[in-house]
Amino acid sequence: MRKKMIAGNWKMNNNQAAAKDFVENLESWFAAEPAGKKAAASGEVEVVIAPPFTSIGAAVAAKKSKLVHIAAQNVYHESKGAFTGEVSLSMLEEAGCEYVIIGHSERRHVFHEPDDVLEKKLIATLESRVLPIFCVGEMLEERASGNAEKVISRQLDFAWQSLTSDVVGEMLVIAYEPVWAIGTGQTASDADAEKACDYIRNLAYEKFGQTASDSLRILYGGSVKPENSASLCSQNDIDGLLIGGASLDVKSFEKIIETVI
Ligand code: PEP
Repeated sequence: MRKKMIAGNWKMNNNQAAAKDFVENLESWFAAEPAGKKAAASGEVEVVIAPPFTSIGAAVAAKKSKLVHIAAQNVYHESKGAFTGEVSLSMLEEAGCEYVIIGHSERRHVFHEPDDVLEKKLIATLESRVLPIFCVGEMLEERASGNAEKVISRQLDFAWQSLTSDVVGEMLVIAYEPVWAIGTGQTASDADAEKACDYIRNLAYEKFGQTASDSLRILYGGSVKPENSASLCSQNDIDGLLIGGASLDVKSFEKIIETVI
């Protein structure tokens, strides 16, 4: 049984005060509101928030329970040195991060991070105590030309070429995020999202076998909101959601959590 993950990627939003307010509100919801208490008691959902680097400390400090987990939005694979502007895994660990997002479409397409660098980031993360949420997904023109699956398999072939079945089954989270759906309001249909996530699980099955592919968590991301979260999350191969815009408003984030339990 794969535990659902609901992860909010704040991108470059929410300063320290906003991060504190958000996490305090979420903790109160889990502790005192009927829907939040139900979510907490069910133990079925893992909630993750990815603030910008400078707000991570405030988010961690506002945490009261073990229900909320903090992620970074990016990391560099080297452990230290002359890498201006970068942050290492030990720094993320020290700051209280349990997860890190790697290969988000904005890292790939705005900051031009190539597959081989993302592979290095993934390997370095798996050697640390921080767990990776590794993003893949095709652009609109790649989908239109019938190459969506080819793109996803290329991104994964690079990323997991040297991983073992144990690591894939126990430590890796994949997020399928079609680029055309991110921040556009054009959510993938339930069927299209499920088809892609099923395709990813099959790739994992072919390379790593049944046990790893059965336990690998695969998230969908791209214009998720409270109105579409339940049906997306109820698909066979979708084990949770990576949410951008709708994770900035704590009420809509709570609503999404409520819809998936
Ligand atoms: C994202 O940034 O990962 C994302 C899915 O954004 P949005 O939910 O706003 O489409």
